[in-house]
Amino acid sequence: MKRWDARLILLTAAAVTMALVGGCARKIVDPTFTGLACGAADQRESYMNPIDASRVQVISVDSAFDDAQIAKIQSAIDSWNSQGRATLGHDLFRLQTLAISANSVPTSVEDCGFPGVVGGFSVVKITAAQTWTDLGFSRSNPGVTIRCSSGIEFAEKQVILVNTSNMDAYPQIFENVILHELGHAVGLGHSCDDQNKGKAGFRNCQSLEPTDDYFQAAMYPYIRADSPKENLTANDQERASCALNYRP
Ligand SMILES: [Zn+2]
Repeated sequence: MKRWDARLILLTAAAVTMALVGGCARKIVDPTFTGLACGAADQRESYMNPIDASRVQVISVDSAFDDAQIAKIQSAIDSWNSQGRATLGHDLFRLQTLAISANSVPTSVEDCGFPGVVGGFSVVKITAAQTWTDLGFSRSNPGVTIRCSSGIEFAEKQVILVNTSNMDAYPQIFENVILHELGHAVGLGHSCDDQNKGKAGFRNCQSLEPTDDYFQAAMYPYIRADSPKENLTANDQERASCALNYRP
């Protein structure tokens, strides 16, 4: 899960990594969902089961986040809602704050037994290092989206976990982390794949220049603390349009 991009560290020692899809996505039954036949050919494998975007998803945000963090979460939601209105004519998400029980946290990235509801998911604040590492996440990893789905159906259950203590040195990346994780919640994988094994449908990150659309996307798998991304780019928007229009 922890991945330091050597190329970025050359640019700045303050490179911070994002959650990788491979560790975030969990398919309950089988990996039948292979992608969407829209958008760029070298991003066709960069999709996970999309959400049912025909309904507004209620995001239950852990009341353990402080007011400034909740405002940043709302700002990231606003970015995605703008995309929803552009693509579907309505918002994607509505935020509510809620005291979230520890039972809402999966016990591992393989655990799909956590409580979930149709039409919503939670954003949970985790600060205990032990909880985070027990889940199998690196202490440098600020956010993970665990998604449960099967076959070609919509994602049926998911939860975003955020470890704010992993951002203590880089609090300015918080909104970037949320914007990125919400992209996973919509069904987008990363804009490119560091683990690419020559897959034609999933561009390798290592070959990208910083000016590349895939590099600049909010769904690029790394965050630079000196230039956090708080807006969706054309590439994010194009892929979101593919995912939001998906119907099983
Ligand atoms: Zn990610």
